[in-house]
Parts: sequence; C-alpha cells; structure tokens
Amino acid sequence: MSLASIQVVLVEPTHPGNIGAVARAMKTMGLHSLHLIKPKKFPHYEASKRAAGGESVLDSAQVFESLSDSLSDCTLVLGTSVRDREISWPTYDPKACAEMVRHHLDQFGEGGDARVAIVFGRESSGLSNAELQLCQAQVRIDANPEYCSLNLAAAVQIIAYEFRVALKQPRLKASANSLSMTEKRKLPATEAQREGHMQHLLSVLDDIEFIKSESPTVLLRKLTRLYSKAELSVEEVQILRGILTAVQKNIRSAG
Ligand code: SAH
Repeated sequence: MSLASIQVVLVEPTHPGNIGAVARAMKTMGLHSLHLIKPKKFPHYEASKRAAGGESVLDSAQVFESLSDSLSDCTLVLGTSVRDREISWPTYDPKACAEMVRHHLDQFGEGGDARVAIVFGRESSGLSNAELQLCQAQVRIDANPEYCSLNLAAAVQIIAYEFRVALKQPRLKASANSLSMTEKRKLPATEAQREGHMQHLLSVLDDIEFIKSESPTVLLRKLTRLYSKAELSVEEVQILRGILTAVQKNIRSAG
C-alpha cells in the first residue's frame, strides 16, 4: 500500500483535542504523515490524550507557517470543504477522490516520488478561497443538508478509510525505477512547479497589460482552475514556461 505517500494537512486547527482525534483516525487507517499549519495549541496534553494509540502520528507531526510551504513537493493536492464556492471547483465524493489518488500513485509506480496532500480547514470557518485554490480538486462528504459540517476528525476518518480501501489492492504497475526519463517527464508536476508556472504566467500577463481588465484575484482563480483541469505534467510545465520566456524576450527586444 502507498499510504505513506499521503499527508494529512490541518489548516490552523483551534482545538488540540481535534488534532489528537485526527492522529487517532489516521493511525487506525494506516496514515502517518500529519502537517499542521499554525496550530493554535500544539503540542498539548489534550491532543496526546485524544490521540490514544495514535501518539506516534503526533510525535512525527510537522508544523508549518504557511499552507504552500507544506504542499511544495506535492504532486496532487485535494482540499476538503462543505461549501460550494462562487467559482466552482471540480468536486468529488470521498470514494471518487480515493480512486483518483490510487490512479495518481499508480502512475508513479512503487517507490516513486508521488506525494498526495489532503487538506482540511479550520473548525470555525473551513478553508479560504485562496487555500482551496492551492488544491486541484475539492472533496465533499455527503451529509444532511440541514447540518453538513462534520467534526474535523470525523471528516478525516471517512476520507482516510476510503484511501485505505482504494489502496488495498496490490499494484499492477512496475516499480518507479523501471520508468525511463521520458516516462518520468510525463508524470504530474509538483505544486511548486505548477505555482512557478502560474507566477510566470501572471508576470507575462502583467507585461502585456492584460491584467488591468479584470481583478487579478478572480483571474488567478479562474486560470488556476483551468490549468488544474489539464493535470499538467513536468514536461508540459516546461513547455509552457518556455513559451512564456520566449514571449518575455520578444517583448523586451521589441521595447
Ligand atoms: N464551518 C466550516 C466547517 C468547518 S468543519 C465551514 O463553513 O467551512 C472543519 C473541516 O472539516 C472543514 O474545513 C473540512 O475540511 C472538513 N469537513 C467537515 N465537514 C465536511 C464535509 N461534509 N465535507 C468535506 N469536508 C468536511
């Protein structure tokens, strides 16, 4: 199983008890990697108490100052949210999400460099639009429309269970070592590579004075959604950045 390639990310959790309960939920499903973005109280005795047998997950948890730092080497980022957004994001239920993760990991082969993050929001206000924008897709757990907001650890438990079920079957794919350089270039790009492309694109759009026509935040969100649908590979990011560099050279030599 490739559960080791999956990291659970909690954005600004408020209650240490919830962090502990998440650690327990993860441990019971065989997940180990927990990232905490600016937790309000951590480490904390309440977290350890609620973790029970999941203490090892807490011991190895990593704390980050920003969500993007936690995601930089991720090749697939999924965000969980109860709410629909104004600019809708591709949305999956937990089972479909787990199947997508399975497919993603299979592409890299056993022992490959795939890294999947599943991001959970604050107890009070969930994930912001900007945070969801760092995710290639949204995962929603179907629930009572009158009250659909699950406790944080309960949400982690449901999704972690689906990951476990989906990754249980042995892989048919060869090991990562048997992939050629050409095959590796066709693998999905990392978050840092995707973000590098988006920043490059924004700077070109600025150079050609395209940006003043629309609020850059909305434009950025729409472009991010467009590119995430394409599931860019390492090679495709390089091609797109090559084009952008050529555009910039051209503008400079013309100016
Ligand atoms: N009041 C918040 C909900 C917070 S619940 C809001 O309006 O967004 C804390 C976190 O648990 C959420 O950010 C999400 O990551 C997860 N979660 C809770 N219920 C969920 C559901 N039905 N589907 C997907 N994720 C859910």
